[in-house]
Amino acid sequence: MIDQKFSDYFVDPLGSPIRALFPYLRDPAIIGFAGGNPAVDVFDVQGLRDAMFEAMGSPADGWAQYSATEGLPRLRQAVVGHMQRLGTEVEDASLLLTAGSQQALDLLARVLVNRGDTIVVERPTYPTAIQTFKSAGATLVGVNSGPDGICIDELRAILERTAPERRPKALYCVPTFGNPTGRTFSEENRLSLLAVAKEFDLLIIEDDPYSALSFDAVEVSRIYDLAQRDPATKDLVVYLSSLSKVMAPGMRIGWMMGAPSLVRRCAIAKQSVDLCSSTWTQAAAAIYIEAGMLAEHLQRARKVYAERSNSMATSLRNMLGDRFEFETPRGGMFIWGKFADGVNSQRLLEDCIEQGVVFVPGEAFYSDTPDSSTARLCFSMCTPERIEKGVLRLLKALDLHRARVG
Ligand code: PMP
Repeated sequence: MIDQKFSDYFVDPLGSPIRALFPYLRDPAIIGFAGGNPAVDVFDVQGLRDAMFEAMGSPADGWAQYSATEGLPRLRQAVVGHMQRLGTEVEDASLLLTAGSQQALDLLARVLVNRGDTIVVERPTYPTAIQTFKSAGATLVGVNSGPDGICIDELRAILERTAPERRPKALYCVPTFGNPTGRTFSEENRLSLLAVAKEFDLLIIEDDPYSALSFDAVEVSRIYDLAQRDPATKDLVVYLSSLSKVMAPGMRIGWMMGAPSLVRRCAIAKQSVDLCSSTWTQAAAAIYIEAGMLAEHLQRARKVYAERSNSMATSLRNMLGDRFEFETPRGGMFIWGKFADGVNSQRLLEDCIEQGVVFVPGEAFYSDTPDSSTARLCFSMCTPERIEKGVLRLLKALDLHRARVG
């Protein structure tokens, strides 16, 4: 019986609740605030095609052959240059290219987690990180975050109440334009976080796929950069980023920066996952970045997303008023909020689907007891006109829901 052969976690596995909504995103009759995809109309199709064409015009061992597990040397160099322009120095031994940052999360889980180990996760957080750590056998503990970042006292209390040998190994967070909250931790919060990490020898996993999508000049340091200032903290942050949100997720390119001993082990774990990431897309990405096209593309993407974010915030404020309370993001792709009057967003979604609009109910983002009135709305994929229409549908669904549920 095949059913008796599955490993423990996969007897009854937890799949991504966001990916379960993907079929709705392909339906043109439905306005999609679910998913976390870059806008199709923002992709630099011509630029990507040109880069791919140029890559394939070069000797085939640079794009058709297997490459180093650590990443195609040319792209490694381009990523170092990209990070340098953002103000971060990367040592060669600290860098591993991955198939998206999702793979980096998986590699970290393989390298760090023994069954029963504790990982602290921001509350709410990115669901596929929950899935990754849980499938590796980790016990997750949520720590609340607020508009300024992680609740430091709460984190400290979690760490203090566990015996040193049972202490959580790592904290996972998305500190800049977070998923799902859109929040950005303040500089002060980042420094406090690092101080706590130092005191309790806690590894911080800084997942950062969105920071390049800022709408205005957001002046916060990467926690990774802050950690490099002190020999006692420099190995305590592992930083993940990705080309998915800023170039194209179909390329499957991300990277990890961290302590060489951690990165080397992740590279060995990667050998058993995919040998190497796609050399083909790595070669094209290198050409694209070297030519300065990423920087150019980002300027356009930021403008478009700022407009869409503004349109969603305005529509929500004007049409839903105090029926949906939210924080206005300064970058990224998401608006996170809470419906008033105890509305259960999972049940509201049923009415929304009937009205032709989808969002992600907040429950998906909790590793523990969820706040079931919360919801994540993604603004990146729709034009301002469609956003307005979608929020109007949301309003209708809310009215119907109230009439139905009371
Ligand atoms: N981390 C976060 C916070 C994300 O939102 C995503 C994608 N939704 C990922 C990691 C994974 O992205 P990718 O593997 O495409 O780089």
